Amino acid sequence: MLLGASPAVAAQNATTVLRIETQLARASLTRVERRDPYKLFHKMDRAGVDRLTPHFTWGPFLKQMKLSGANSFNVTDPKFYAALDKLLAAISLQDLKAYLRWHSMHAASPYLASRFEDERFAFFDKTLRGVPQQKPRWKRCVQQVDALLGEALGQEFVARTFGPELKAATLFMTRQIEQAMHEDIEALPWMSSATKQQALAKLAAVVNKIGYPERWRDYSSVAIGRDDYFGNALRAIEFESRRQLNEIDKPLDRLEWQMTPQTVNAYYDPQLNDINFPAGVLQPPLYDPLMDDAPNYGNTGGTIGHELTHGFDDQGRKFDAAGNLKDWWNNQDANEFGERTQCIVDRYAQYVVVDDIHINSRLTLGEDVADLGGLILAHMAWRAQAARNVPASRDDLTPEQRFFVGYAQWACENQRPENLRLRAKIDEHSPGRYRVNGLVANMPDFAKAFACPVNAPLVKQTPCRVW
Ligand SMILES: [Zn+2]
Repeated sequence: MLLGASPAVAAQNATTVLRIETQLARASLTRVERRDPYKLFHKMDRAGVDRLTPHFTWGPFLKQMKLSGANSFNVTDPKFYAALDKLLAAISLQDLKAYLRWHSMHAASPYLASRFEDERFAFFDKTLRGVPQQKPRWKRCVQQVDALLGEALGQEFVARTFGPELKAATLFMTRQIEQAMHEDIEALPWMSSATKQQALAKLAAVVNKIGYPERWRDYSSVAIGRDDYFGNALRAIEFESRRQLNEIDKPLDRLEWQMTPQTVNAYYDPQLNDINFPAGVLQPPLYDPLMDDAPNYGNTGGTIGHELTHGFDDQGRKFDAAGNLKDWWNNQDANEFGERTQCIVDRYAQYVVVDDIHINSRLTLGEDVADLGGLILAHMAWRAQAARNVPASRDDLTPEQRFFVGYAQWACENQRPENLRLRAKIDEHSPGRYRVNGLVANMPDFAKAFACPVNAPLVKQTPCRVW
């Protein structure tokens, strides 16, 4: 209706859009299926993709995208493209137009007049996630600059917040945690020495990216005007899209970051075999140079251990030291791994997110494995650190207790039930509550630190442990 359609036509178009989206969603791999990288790997040439979708001619499309020479494709989800082709053969031109019009408006809505942005907010935030009101305009503007010109903002952020001492301290902690994983792998009772050698080689090849990229993205070709918000956004989106397409047929860029320096998050990239900690996640109240080691090792150490463990979770373990999808496990070791992850799948499936909705623990498996392995590694590193730098005693909590409290504090959060329901379907992370309580229940060191009785709710008689 905001585009001028009558209520009747708008309602009809909305039905069409929902019908098409539902058809496409049903033809897609589920989120759990997508966790298996082999299910997403279908290499095809031009003739192959043409055969897959006879009703979509790739030639003109690729030409328009300035990719006429492209001849090597990974079709992540062939079943989806087959369904799309069937749909294209059956759909009316009018319905297709309604569908594409909706998508272009949806994509453009954050940059259009308030009535468009408000309408987007009303469904995607208010209805789906229970958010009562939009963030103030300045916050939305900062978010847009982060999304569209993130590394330009990042240079300023790093200059103000991330000095060489902070980088050195967090890199040191990262190396201690890698050392802990080295010792952990060597001591694993269930893995053969041949697979251990492979695991250690992969660990040794992990690249540590701390704070910010070595080479900054150059936005000088993006024209920015004070009086053209929509145009600015469009040009920045086009720039990023072109930047990515330009990497086709070039050697892999191992310096690339997927997050901006000001992001409060971290990640492991299985295809680069690197762990990435933006400067934003190495700031108070997470990492605080003014605090002592115990909470910092529990909190940031836990995050570092988490990302490192992703290289060895149900998904990451399928990639080798160079980031290739290549099996380096023998069957026996893979089965032993599977038995241990099953313990986590079964345990987390019992936890209730909201109402009667349980954690989909096949979806959250990689994150749950990384949480547990991560904190175990951080704890090993913290022990080593406490031996070097004996913690001062305080009368409220022991250093061991402060390590766990430090870990728990990253997950101080409050979520509306709508958001919990949505995330239970789509988020690969368990809710914060179980990322803390569900995790420490599997750590005998936690029970010891707080002198928990054996039947305490946060003590499991048979702890799960993978790494
Ligand atoms: Zn993770």
